[in-house]
Amino acid sequence: MTSSCIFCSIIAGDIPSKKIYEDEHTFAFFDISQVTKGHALVVPKNHHENLFDLPATDVSHVYQTVQKVANALKDTFSPVGLNLVNNNGEAAGQTVFHYHVHLLPRYDATDGFQAKWEEHGSEYSQEDLEQMRVKLVSTLSDQK
Ligand code: AMP
Ligand code: ZN
Repeated sequence: MTSSCIFCSIIAGDIPSKKIYEDEHTFAFFDISQVTKGHALVVPKNHHENLFDLPATDVSHVYQTVQKVANALKDTFSPVGLNLVNNNGEAAGQTVFHYHVHLLPRYDATDGFQAKWEEHGSEYSQEDLEQMRVKLVSTLSDQK
């Protein structure tokens, strides 16, 4: 519990929220902004800032709850799709620094959510990609 954290305060019940689900490790509630109908957040009860800091056990707990809530959103509001969004760091759009996953049920192209993808594949040669791959694989093997 971090007293200055709004999501810790919501989990503790000190700030009201529209709670959807709670278990030993996770908590889910409606996002106040309702970007699309049913827009929900899933958070670990333990305070961790972002994905880089999240222990593997919490990753597992959070994503089990994400799937549970996603299926409930699907069965309740009949969206035609669903986006998961997780912003890590201010530069990536994170505004609340307690790890959370957004569940955004999708209804149509004008439902309120848009993700912009620009392709830059042509700027990387096969050699560039191979060098990047080798570096990344080396970093991954050092983590073990
Ligand atoms: P992010 O920008 O990914 O850090 O997302 C933070 C989200 O928290 C935003 O979508 C806010 O609308 C949402 N939010 C902030 N305060 C509250 C609150 N008191 N209850 C529900 N959602 C909140
Ligand atoms: Zn917190």
